[in-house]
Order: sequence, then structure tokens, then C-alpha cells
Amino acid sequence: MIESFTALVIRDVEGKPRAGFEQLTLADLPDNDVLVEISHSSLNYKDGLAVSGKGRIARRLPMVAGIDLAGVVVESRVPEWQPGDRVVVNGWGLSETEWGGYSRFQRIKPGHLTRLPEGFSAAEAMAIGTAGYTAALCVLALEDWGQIAPGAGEVLVTGAAGGVGSVAVSLLAKRGYRVTAATGRPEQHDFLRDLGVSAFVERAELAAPGKMLQAERWTGAVDTVGSTTLANVLAQTCYGGAVTACGLAGGADLPGSVMPHILRGVALLGIDSVMAPAAKRDRAWAYLAEHLDRAKLAELTTVAPVSALPELARKIVAGETRGRTVIEIA
Ligand code: NDP
Repeated sequence: MIESFTALVIRDVEGKPRAGFEQLTLADLPDNDVLVEISHSSLNYKDGLAVSGKGRIARRLPMVAGIDLAGVVVESRVPEWQPGDRVVVNGWGLSETEWGGYSRFQRIKPGHLTRLPEGFSAAEAMAIGTAGYTAALCVLALEDWGQIAPGAGEVLVTGAAGGVGSVAVSLLAKRGYRVTAATGRPEQHDFLRDLGVSAFVERAELAAPGKMLQAERWTGAVDTVGSTTLANVLAQTCYGGAVTACGLAGGADLPGSVMPHILRGVALLGIDSVMAPAAKRDRAWAYLAEHLDRAKLAELTTVAPVSALPELARKIVAGETRGRTVIEIA
């Protein structure tokens, strides 16, 4: 087996988290039961915060960054995982409390592994990654709400050209929903139209403070932005509609009112991917396997080497990346 390998490690440098490439050996890895050889990881907003140092994501240092990984089991001390098993990990504290995916090898707790669904390559699984699996959790939550049907009104996706947004757009369009995209980048309209968007809202329009109740426009919405945007989306949601909240690209506050909830019965559905139980993850991956158009997934994906991570981290935090980015490890 390989003697040493490259990993992106975050260390405390004069009181600040700083990311850098290091050579590790297997002896450096944590003492978890399953050793995985990682072929692909991905770039998410949270990875951007961690690697650029713009956010304190790691709760202990040193920490190997990367909240996603896909690869093959090479050694296992538990019967449920065997060498050769194709696996994926999303969240579960990777890059926060558990060493993550920007490394050729990682030792993982058995309960954190998900079997890669048949039909997905490791690269496709990372093209989906945490952002895409979160998009599936959002769409499933809207469908479980039970009052939103394809063909009946518009569904809004905010931060539409980003990772969660672009996968949500693809899934919703494939399911037959009419999708409106809120984006701050008019140059991405053609990209979003190709994914299935039929109308656009200017990001700035939703970022300006609005009335507690506004004209009813959306039967449902997937919000990745938070703050004033989410407050406006709630105020514009139709009677009986629902909005999922998963992100804070525009801010962590929520300066709204109870009016949409108490006068229109609008639901605000919180989405967490990090600690979601295994059954929910399996359901989301099965939904992606059934409903995500592979050609659209390829269209919204960019592939980059590990060496590009520092620059990509800066870009995703600045809102300059589009769709999903796969990181090739091996
Ligand atoms: P991306 O950076 O890929 O997408 C975010 C998008 O939001 C951007 O592409 C941009 O879209 C828009 N945006 C960026 N900055 C602003 C701003 N200041 N105001 C309004 N819109 C902005 O990130 P991800 O898709 O990976 O993640 C999106 C959000 O979801 C993040 O906040 C992330 O932390 C969160 N998240 C949460 C998860 C959970 O478990 N709850 C899991 C995964 C992600 P455009 O150019 O189209 O306007």
C-alpha cells in the first residue's frame, strides 16, 4: 500500500485556522474501523468557508477538510463493510469533528458510510455531493408536505445557479414542476434554462426588505439564501404552500413575521443534511437515482484537481462558482 499521500489539513496558525497541503501516512489517520481509498470529493459552500478560513467550520484542529467523499473500502474491522464496497459519506461532522474527504485515504466510522447506489459512479456521487443530496431532501420535504403538485403553480429556487440550487432546479423540472429561479447572475440564465427553469427573479428584488404579506406567487420554494430573501419568499408564498430552508448564503438572520404562517398556513420546513439519519439519506439517494437526469447532472458539473481547492474555496464563498464541482483525489 502507498506510503504517504497528500491531504488538505487545517491547522491553528497564530490562533487562526489555516489550510495547507501536507503529506500524511496511514498511521496519521484516526482510529476508525473502516479504511476507505477516496477517489473523489466535492466542493460545497461549507468547504469554501473551511478552506478559505472565512468560517470556523472545524471544531478541533488539526482537521482534514472536505465534507464529502466517495471511494472504495480497503480494510474493515466490522462485518457490515467489506473490502471492495463502494461507499459515499456526506456530512456526519466531516471537516468539523471528523477528518474529511480531501485526502487519498481516510478511516471512517461504520455508521457514517452510505452504500453508493447502483448506477452512480463515484464521480457522479460527488457531482451530487452534500449539496445535491440536500437538494433532494428539500424536494422530498416539499412533496411530503402534500399540498404542492406538479403543474399547479410555480416553485421558486433561490441561489439557483449554486450547487443546491442547480440540483433542486433539475429535480423539480424533471418531476414536472414549473420552476422560477432567483439568481444574481443574469449570465447564468441560459445555463438555468437548460436545466429546466421557465422564469427568473432578480436576486436583488428578494434581498430588499418587503411587506409582511405580499402578492401570492409560489406554491412552494427551495431557499438556500436565508435572511431577507427567505422572509420575502415566505411573504410571497401562496395559501397552503411550503418553503424549505437549508442555507445562509445571504445571511443567517430571518427578519420576517408570523403572518404568512398564521394567515396563509405557509410551512417553513427546516432541512439538515449533516446529522440526517441513515433512512432519510437512503431515501434521498434513491430519489436521486430515480429522478435526477444524468445528462443534466453532467451539464451542471465541473471537475477540478485537489490543487485547485484554495482558489475554488475563495470563489464559492464569493458566489463565483456555478453548479457543482467534483474534486478528483486519486
Ligand atoms: P453555492 O455557493 O454553490 O450556492 C449558493 C448560491 O447562493 C450562489 O451560487 C448564488 O447563487 C447565491 N448567493 C451567493 N451569495 C449570495 C448573497 N450574498 N445573497 C444572495 N444569494 C447569494 O453553495 P451551496 O449550494 O453548496 O450551498 C448553498 C447554501 O446551503 C449554503 O449556505 C450552504 O451552507 C447551505 N447548505 C446547507 C446544508 C444543510 O444541511 N442545511 C447542506 C448543503 C448546503 P446565484 O448566483 O444564482 O444568485
